[in-house]
Amino acid sequence: MTGRFAPSPTSQLHLGNLRTALLAWLFARWGGENFLVRIEDLDQQRVQAAAGTARDQLTDLETLGIDWDPPVVHQSERLELYRHAVKGLDVYPCFCTRKEIAAASQAPHSQLRPYPGTCANLSSIQRSRLAEMRRPATRVRAGNAMATVHDLHAGEVSAVVDDFVLFRADGTPAYNLACVVDDGLQRVTQVCRGDDLLESAPRQGWLAHRLGFPVPGYVHVSLAVNSDGVRLAKRDKAVTLAELTALGASPATIVGVLCESAGLPRCSSPQELLEVLPGCWWSSPRMWQPWIVRTDQLAAWT
Ligand code: GLU
Repeated sequence: MTGRFAPSPTSQLHLGNLRTALLAWLFARWGGENFLVRIEDLDQQRVQAAAGTARDQLTDLETLGIDWDPPVVHQSERLELYRHAVKGLDVYPCFCTRKEIAAASQAPHSQLRPYPGTCANLSSIQRSRLAEMRRPATRVRAGNAMATVHDLHAGEVSAVVDDFVLFRADGTPAYNLACVVDDGLQRVTQVCRGDDLLESAPRQGWLAHRLGFPVPGYVHVSLAVNSDGVRLAKRDKAVTLAELTALGASPATIVGVLCESAGLPRCSSPQELLEVLPGCWWSSPRMWQPWIVRTDQLAAWT
């Protein structure tokens, strides 16, 4: 079995990301298995606006004692692999507006909006006419197939797969494509990540199958939220490792808080946690419920 953590280096890891990383590490290492880190840096505009973030993310993981099996893979160095992978797929150019394409492909966290198939059956004359006006994205013809994947907590998750984007209009591979190709090529057998991506799993499972990769098992864990119940974000103060350290919280304290947030024994390092884990440690309801982060109560943490 091989697990992985795949951050996008567009902002510093916050407590919710660190919790997901710890749990992904735990699921992999608990079985004595491999754990990989993959930097999902295809959105170059956002990556460049946050230069140095990938390095900081790796340092944060190291600081908390979350180790990985080398090498760290960067998606921006693997563009050829994604282009090669789609060779056998039935794809078509899509000329729909940028806005629609962005909603479907750019942000893995966006609500899934099924593509209505507007460009699925254009004639070659229509295509050439549209091509004079704008560059097309590339969609896969999925034919509204039904796909089912298995999630450790959610069980069987099924969805109709629409003709989703494989390449954006600027030629950048879309998240779903790059993620599936990398999980396949890296022989990832377990995908543990935030439950905002649960809705992407059937599409990804379907694509993995079409590309001839085994479909991984999924573990979608709950997200961290602020005291208003809104998903934790950069604008929430004191949620990154650097911010918390500046306030006097040690890495050991932070690991302890992450453990407790998931209903696990409070430990000061991932390695220690591994040694004291009870059987069926993932059955704690706290692992699957949103974690309300109260950094204003930092004093109570230490
Ligand atoms: N890169 C995505 C993120 O940072 C995670 C993708 C995944 O784990 O499949 O949210």
